[in-house]
Amino acid sequence: RLYNEVQELKGNIRVYCRIRPFLPGQNSRQTSIEYIGENGELVVANPFKQGKDTHRLFKFNKVFGQAATQEEVFLDTRPLIRSILDGYNVCIFAYGQTGSGKTYTMSGPSITSKEDWGVNYRALNDLFHLTQIRRNAVVYEVGVQMVEIYNEQVRDILSDGDASMHSVRSTEDVLELMNIGLMNRTVGATALNERSSRSHCVLSVHVRGVDVETDSVLRGSLNLVDLAGSERVDRSEATGERLKEAQHINKSLSALGDVIFALAHKNPHVPYRNSKLTQVLQSSLGGQAKTLMFVQVNPDGDSYAETVSTLKFAERVS
Ligand code: ADP
Ligand code: MG
Repeated sequence: RLYNEVQELKGNIRVYCRIRPFLPGQNSRQTSIEYIGENGELVVANPFKQGKDTHRLFKFNKVFGQAATQEEVFLDTRPLIRSILDGYNVCIFAYGQTGSGKTYTMSGPSITSKEDWGVNYRALNDLFHLTQIRRNAVVYEVGVQMVEIYNEQVRDILSDGDASMHSVRSTEDVLELMNIGLMNRTVGATALNERSSRSHCVLSVHVRGVDVETDSVLRGSLNLVDLAGSERVDRSEATGERLKEAQHINKSLSALGDVIFALAHKNPHVPYRNSKLTQVLQSSLGGQAKTLMFVQVNPDGDSYAETVSTLKFAERVS
């Protein structure tokens, strides 16, 4: 009964945790992952510390272990994609420290074969298939925007416009646009990962369907968000630009957490205005919107502190 109540409280917010595998160079290191349950349980522990109270239990809607494929992950995401054509607004995020697999989950690894496709491409591919199946009854138009939010500034990364909308007719059109966008992203170097992104990337897909018989119009949207790394930056090390970036990232991620928390708890006031990120996403968060957050985890024991902080963030909103 309690579980049902929790589900009810959460409403349209769900949280999936994904643990990435160790990478080829990272030869068999100690892991913080102790146990993954069938029903979304995850136990983590600091492998370098002994004694009592070293284990922490978290519970999400689902946990994907290191062996989970892109396809498996998408199978559990697909129902949300379908609801866009019924007029829902859907928002999908990837949250986690730099190097935890956010971009892998959302877009896939850099050299992409179809099998490696992340949620972005699969979702759009699915949308196009679905719109074709229904084409006799409903005429669909699909438009795409892609912006980057860096230091609280929104920048169009598809053209010089202001969040320009690009009409697309096929998955190929989308692939082409997304490659342009990804190339235009601001990337900076950190000790953790030199290709690490210090900005949020938001891909917005707008679908408009006109019923041929009744002329009625249905609108749905999908926001796919690859968030900036959530790691806490050491104030003694970061200075100047890097410190400023870190402060903006902290501010926007906590604003996002506050918004999702308010929605999950049905608070009358939802603080959308506290960051550019939550302003951009306002229409796809809350109301009839459906939200899915991927919480990305690096299994390395050295990442234990960041992992716990990531999981706590997710637990707060789930
Ligand atoms: P982030 O975007 O969070 O900084 P990345 O997506 O760039 O992290 O992932 C970091 C590295 O780990 C990349 O080399 C990526 O290809 C690899 N990686 C991440 N998740 C997986 C996975 N599920 N399977 C295989 N490799 C992965
Ligand atoms: Mg990334």
